[in-house]
Order: sequence, then C-alpha cells, then structure tokens
Amino acid sequence: MTELTTIRQLAERYDTLLFDSYGVLVDEAYGLTGARELIDWLESTGKSYYIVTNDASRSIPSRAGKFIEQGVPVPEHRIINSGCLIPRFFRNNNLVGAPTVVFGSPDAYEHVAEGGADILPHAQLEDADVFVLADDAGYDWRTSMNDLVTTLNRKILAGESFKLLLPNPDIIYPSGERAYSFAAAALVDMLESALVRLFGDDPAYRFTRLGKPFAPIFDEAVRRSSESGAGASFVMIGDQLETDIAGANAYGIPSAIVTTGINRLHTTQELGLLRETVRPVYLLESLSTG
Ligand SMILES: [Mg+2]
Repeated sequence: MTELTTIRQLAERYDTLLFDSYGVLVDEAYGLTGARELIDWLESTGKSYYIVTNDASRSIPSRAGKFIEQGVPVPEHRIINSGCLIPRFFRNNNLVGAPTVVFGSPDAYEHVAEGGADILPHAQLEDADVFVLADDAGYDWRTSMNDLVTTLNRKILAGESFKLLLPNPDIIYPSGERAYSFAAAALVDMLESALVRLFGDDPAYRFTRLGKPFAPIFDEAVRRSSESGAGASFVMIGDQLETDIAGANAYGIPSAIVTTGINRLHTTQELGLLRETVRPVYLLESLSTG
C-alpha cells in the first residue's frame, strides 16, 4: 500500500532525500509551489539532499544558473544530471583517449571531454570507437542517424567492437504547454531496432543508459552522499512512475510520488493498485515543510 507522507516525515526517516527536478521542483519556466522554501529549509537545516535529473543538455553550472532564474536556488554540488555521469563511464570502461563521436549540444561535448575522450568531428564517424547520443539538439537527425547506422553495420561486419552511450533515457520531454519534443532516446530506440533487424538481439549492440530508471545515476547519489558523511538511507521523490519510481524501486530505495508533475494518480488507493515495479511507497501531496 502507498502511504501519505510529508517532507518533514521523510527527512526524519531518511538520511538523504533525492529529488527529481522537472515536475517536482520546477516546470519549464518557474519554480513550483513550495520549492524555494523547501530548498531554503534543506540548506538551513543542513539536510543531505541531491537533485537527480536525466537532462544531459546543460552543464551543471548552467543548470544551477537556470534554477536560480526559476527562483529555486539549488547549489551546484547538489545537482546530479545524466551528463555529469559521462566522465565516470569513460574512466570505468577504460575509454580515456578513445576516439569518440558525440551527437548533442556544446554542454554535452564538455562532459565527454571531461571523461578524457578524443572527440572526433562527425565527418570521421568511421574512425570512432565510442558513440555518444547526448542530446537531440546540435545536429541533423536524419543525416546523422543514417550515417551512424551505416557505420555500425560496417563495423559489425568487419568484426570491430564499439561502445554506445545514451546518458538520458527519456524518450520525450516537455517543450511548452502541452507540447513535447523527441529526445535522443527516441533515436536510440530507432537505431537499436535497426541493429536487431540486421544482426539479431545482441547486448553488445545496445546503448548503455546512465539516467533514471537505470542504476548509474543512483550510484552517483549514493557515492556523493557517502563522501559527504551522510548516512546510508535514501528516499527518491519524483513525478514519473516509469523513471523516478521504477528506478528507485529497482535500486532498492523507497520512493515518493508528488502530484504536481506528469503522474495523474493522486490518491493512495489508486497508487496502491499499481504493479509493484512502479508502485511508490509514499504519496507526497505538497513540498511544504511547515
Ligand atoms: Mg520529472
């Protein structure tokens, strides 16, 4: 069953609070009700917390700047986005110095450069061993994806190995009032379908995903919180069942759903009927700390 809760109760029960950004603290333009007071309260009480967001299109300083514009002053060291996980991916997979092609915004290139990759221009796609689909902006989809599937096909036939990376697993994102745009993950679905069609289902031809609902973004939150000396219990507060809640559940972290974002189930009864993988432990009706 899903239990009604408050921020204060969660802060008493858990050492570190993890918050999704969009739909919980902010929308496209503004901070949501109570978000500013919540951040002020967390900072003044010294509570351990992190913002875990899939958006890889902005660097951390740029994201922090946007938060300030939106009236929700989250310090840089509290923000974990799927882009900032890229350098660790390169180091962990011995890819420092690896010839890499990036599809994405200038901020995405920065994350990849930080990982020590040797970034090649798109014209040298054939020479790359690593392909990062960082964002939907900054390149022409049709030409780039045609070139990429052609290159991967040739590499597989030649027996060459490669790594595929998708920092942000979100298929779409809100781009205005009731308007959506396709994100890089939609292109990855297309590419993976093509490779299955050509070569069958082989894990080597799949993209590694870093953001929610996958584990790497939660690993980073756990690592940072432990480095800061906070205790080892966490709760994830989010608005999306398939990313925030499913991700936390799979990782073994209790989850709380808010009613301000994309989720349309607003009672503990409705939430309690969900299948276990996406069922939140808590329902949080407001960000109020009063
Ligand atoms: Mg959200």
